[in-house]
Amino acid sequence: MSATTSAKAQGDADKQSDRSLGAIRACMRRSLTEPSELSKVRATLAKPQSAPASPTARFVLARALFRLLVLILPVVLLLGWYSTDWGRAFGEPAVGADLERIQRSPHYAEGAFVNLVPTPMTTGSTWTMLWRWGFGEQERHPASPLVFPGVEPATFAASPASGLRLTWLGHSTVLIEIDGQRVLTDPVFGERTSPSRWVGPQRFFPPPLALTDVPTIDAVVISHDHYDHLDYESIVALGAVTAKFFVPLGVAAHLKSWGIEPARIVELDWWQSAVHAGLEFTATPARHFSGRGLSDKNHTEWASWAIVGNAHRVFFTGDTGYFDGFAEVGARLGPFDASLVEAGAYDELWPNIHLGPENALRVHRDLRAKVLMPVHWGTFNLAFHAWTEPIERLRTLARPAAVKLAQPYPGESFEVSASLPSSTWWKEPSQANER
Ligand SMILES: [Zn+2]
Repeated sequence: MSATTSAKAQGDADKQSDRSLGAIRACMRRSLTEPSELSKVRATLAKPQSAPASPTARFVLARALFRLLVLILPVVLLLGWYSTDWGRAFGEPAVGADLERIQRSPHYAEGAFVNLVPTPMTTGSTWTMLWRWGFGEQERHPASPLVFPGVEPATFAASPASGLRLTWLGHSTVLIEIDGQRVLTDPVFGERTSPSRWVGPQRFFPPPLALTDVPTIDAVVISHDHYDHLDYESIVALGAVTAKFFVPLGVAAHLKSWGIEPARIVELDWWQSAVHAGLEFTATPARHFSGRGLSDKNHTEWASWAIVGNAHRVFFTGDTGYFDGFAEVGARLGPFDASLVEAGAYDELWPNIHLGPENALRVHRDLRAKVLMPVHWGTFNLAFHAWTEPIERLRTLARPAAVKLAQPYPGESFEVSASLPSSTWWKEPSQANER
C-alpha cells in the first residue's frame, strides 16, 4: 500500500466517525425535546381521576344496569301478580247474557254506565292533587294503634228485641239485623283496599269481628266494585255462610269468577227490587263511578240500597255524590228507621262523587230517616282530610239540626230504637280499649 492510499483511507474513516457522532447528537437532542412512548404513558396515567370515563366504560356500566333490570323486573312482576292471587282479585268482565242485560239498561251507553246528572270526576289539576297528597299536614292516620274489644259472636245468636240492631264493622261494612234476618253491607275484612295483599291503603284496626266468626248471613249487599267495597277474599270466605248476594248490574261477573254460584246472586238495575227471606231489596241510584283495573272504568253499575222488612226500613248509600235522587228515594221508599250514609273520603277536588258531612246530613233528611249512622270513615286513609274530621263535622252539624246521630265504635252493636251510642272514642282510643 502506498503512502497516498493510506492517507485517503484515514480521511474516509474520520468522515464516517463524524457522521456517526452527528447522528448520536441528533438523537440525544430529540430525546430531550420529544417525549418517549414511556413518557407518554406516564403522562396519561398522571391525569386527574375525575376525568370523564371513556365511552367504552359508560357503555359497560349501562349494559350491566340493563342486564340487572331485565333480571329483576320479571321477579317483581311475578311477585306482584302472585299478591293478587294470580289476578283473581281483579275479577272478570260480564260476558254473554250478563253483558246483554247490561247493554239493555237505560243507564248504560257506549260501553259504560252513566250517572243521572253530569258528574265531572275532579275539579282540580293532577298537580294540585299530588301537592296536597305529598305536603298536606292533616293527621290522616290515628296517632296510636286503635284496639277495640271486638264483637262477641254470641251477640248474634238471639234476634234484637226491637227487631233492628246495627253493628258497624268499619268503613262501609255494617251487619244489619232486621226483622229476624241478617244483612251485611259491603263486607271488607281484608287488610288493604287494593288488588294486592301487600300494597295499598291499610286498615287502621283489625276487623272487630273476624271473618271466620261471621254468623250465617241472609243477604250480602254490594254497592259497587271499588276495592274498599268489594273485597275478593271477604266474598270468597262469605260464600260459605251467605244465602244471597245482591249486586248492581255487572258486579255478578266478579262474584261468579270467585266461585259464587249464579243462583245465589241477584243482580239489579236502579229501581229494580227482589224479595228474599221476607225482606225487599231495591237497588236505587247513586252518583259515583266504578272499576277495578286500568281499562274497566264504569263497566259495572254503582247503587244505593233500600232494605225493607215487615216492620223496619234501612237505607245504605254506598258511595255517592249529592243529587236530588235521594229525595225521590225518600218519597217512594221512606221514611227509614236508619240511614247508613257515607261521610268520609270527600274533598273539594272531587265534590261530585262523595258527599262530605254537610251533604251526608242533606241525604239523611231527603231520605226522611230517623237515625243517621255515618259510614265510610275512620278505617282507611283514602283522602286528604284528617281521619276524625268527618265525625267531628257531622256532630257539629247534627246538634243544631236535631238529627239523631249514632257514633258507635267499630264493633259496637246498638238497637236503633234505644239510646244511641255516643262515646267520642276517636278522641280517646284507650277509652274504647277498656270497654
Ligand atoms: Zn267508590
